[in-house]
Amino acid sequence: MRVLVVEDNEELVGLLTRALARSGLEVDAARNVADADASLRSVTYAAVVLDLGLPDADGLALLDQMKRRRDQTPVLILSARAGLDDRVAGLNKGASDYLPKPFATEELVARLQALLRRAPGPGGAVLSLGNLCLKVEGRQAEVDGKLLALPAREVDVLEVLMKRSGRVVSHDALQSQVFGSSQDVASNAIEVYIHRLRKFLAEANATVRIHTIRGAGYLMDVAKS
Ligand code: CA
Repeated sequence: MRVLVVEDNEELVGLLTRALARSGLEVDAARNVADADASLRSVTYAAVVLDLGLPDADGLALLDQMKRRRDQTPVLILSARAGLDDRVAGLNKGASDYLPKPFATEELVARLQALLRRAPGPGGAVLSLGNLCLKVEGRQAEVDGKLLALPAREVDVLEVLMKRSGRVVSHDALQSQVFGSSQDVASNAIEVYIHRLRKFLAEANATVRIHTIRGAGYLMDVAKS
């Protein structure tokens, strides 16, 4: 699982990265709200650790941006602003937990793991990327809140690509996750579904793109505007 640490204190970023990596998590770091927002738009994270005192804006602004996009990635706030009002404000804006600074790394790791256990599993999750969101359980994809009439296989392909957004998914991995171990799959089946999916997304004005990485597979990300 990959988590995003939003923190401008380099020393703390290093400490958190090492502690979270030791507990088996992959860590990306963002130093300000703008970078964090860009990362959240292009990669699907299991959770966000969010500092509030950031150089470009209040960390709470990131929660507002996430809410507007209906991004339900759980957020743990980490802040020196530990007063009751600050905690309530953070939780009211949708944060899942609030840990005052200074904190013990062990406690942060334990709380983050508790939050990851509570987070909706793959069944109840909503994946979001750009203006596209996928309700995994309901198998419904939406662009800007408008439902896309995607056939089931296209939804399967979309789910795999969205879960690994920003990273390359090999043709074989995609085929085995969409068709299982079924042997009688046409060799160009995945290309056909990718082609149709691109058409659906383009017609709906989705802000995401599916790139073909020659010899490696496919990669989904947010189109640079
Ligand atoms: Ca700070």
